[in-house]
Amino acid sequence: MSFTVAIVGRPNVGKSTFFNRMLEQRKAIVDDISGVTRDRQYGIADWNGKTFNLIDTGGFVPDTEDIFEKEIRKQVRIAIDEADALVFMTDASAGITDLDDAMADLLRRTTKPVFLTVNKVDNNERMLDASEFYILGFEDVFFVSSMTGSGTGELLDALVKLI
Ligand code: GDP
Ligand code: MG
Repeated sequence: MSFTVAIVGRPNVGKSTFFNRMLEQRKAIVDDISGVTRDRQYGIADWNGKTFNLIDTGGFVPDTEDIFEKEIRKQVRIAIDEADALVFMTDASAGITDLDDAMADLLRRTTKPVFLTVNKVDNNERMLDASEFYILGFEDVFFVSSMTGSGTGELLDALVKLI
């Protein structure tokens, strides 16, 4: 059985940084796949002896807030279809944006597990700002720094429990 986790979130929250850090755990295969999945990167991650596929979404979306809701809907829909679990990534340094709200609305509708991950929690001060994300209403909330690696172990523990 192969378990797949997709990382979704608006541009610039740190999805690719997180993806790359996860793959450092192991020499991974990262490939661009053509066709409908052209804008995603695939890798294999492992944690505590458990292996899973990891998808980084939004590779070709420009790093601005200026993307169409239609594009976001498409990205989230494909991710929900492809994955067994979703990491919904947000950015503590930016707070909750309209785009985060829009994505949260879409993700609340899936029955697949969604792990709300507040990234860029690099220090204690950021942790205070980050608590505002509880308002989005997700049960599983993780505070991480993809830059330092802080908090990522707890997220991975929770993810591999599903395998
Ligand atoms: P993506 O568009 O969601 O894939 O975001 P990227 O991974 O390209 O990261 C966007 C920016 O955020 C880059 O400048 C990263 O270096 C920065 N970044 C990513 N993770 C962190 C983090 O944990 N802390 C801080 N301070 N910056 C981060
Ligand atoms: Mg990216």
